[in-house]
Amino acid sequence: PLQTTNVLAQRYPFTLPPLGYANSAVEPAVDAQTMQLHHDKHHASYVESLNKALASRPTLHDKSLKELLSGLSDVPTEARDAVRNHGGGHANHALFWMLLAPGGQKSPQGALASAITRDFGSHASLMNALKNAGLSQFGSGWAWLVRNKDGKLSVKSTPNQDTPISEGLTPVLAIDVWEHAYYLKYQNRREAYLDAVLGAMNWDAASTAYAG
Ligand code: MN
Repeated sequence: PLQTTNVLAQRYPFTLPPLGYANSAVEPAVDAQTMQLHHDKHHASYVESLNKALASRPTLHDKSLKELLSGLSDVPTEARDAVRNHGGGHANHALFWMLLAPGGQKSPQGALASAITRDFGSHASLMNALKNAGLSQFGSGWAWLVRNKDGKLSVKSTPNQDTPISEGLTPVLAIDVWEHAYYLKYQNRREAYLDAVLGAMNWDAASTAYAG
C-alpha cells in the first residue's frame, strides 16, 4: 500500500500517487464514485496547484513536502498560502488513502495500542474523541489523532487543509470532513460518515504513521 512517507519526501514537481486499491475497495464506508472523484479530481488538483505555485520559485525546489509544511514561515509570503493549502491537501490525502487501504488490523496494535490506552483510557474513548472532533469542526477541515515529540497522543481538528505537521506534530489518523469526502453518499449526515470511516481505518497503516 501507499506509504505517506514517500509523499512527504517528494520534491517539486510533485506527483499524484495511485490510490493503490480499487475505487470500490472501501465500500460501503466510502462509495466508489466518491473515492474516484476524491482521488482523481480533488487530490489531483491539490498536486497541480502546488506545482503551479512553485514553478517560478526554484529556491523552493530542493525542499521536500515535509520541509515545506513544517517550515511555512520560511516560505515567501506570496507562496505561503498556496503551500499551506495545496501542499497540505497533498500530504493530508496521501495519509488518508493509506489509512483507508483495505486489509490490515481492525484495531490498534502494539506500541500504538499501549499509547492509546495510556492517553485515552480505551480505543472506544479515542474513537469518541475523534468523532466529536470531526463533528465539531465547523465547515471544511480534518479530524486527527496526532503524536507529539514526546510520544504523547492527542486528538484535534484543523480547518481547510491545515496539517498538524505545520505545528511540529506527527499525524497518526486523519479523517477528511470536507463535504466532498461524504456528500454523495451521506449528504448532511456527517456523523454517519464518521462512524463508517472510523470503522474502516487500517491500524497497520496507523502504526506505520505513529512510528514515522
Ligand atoms: Mn478531501
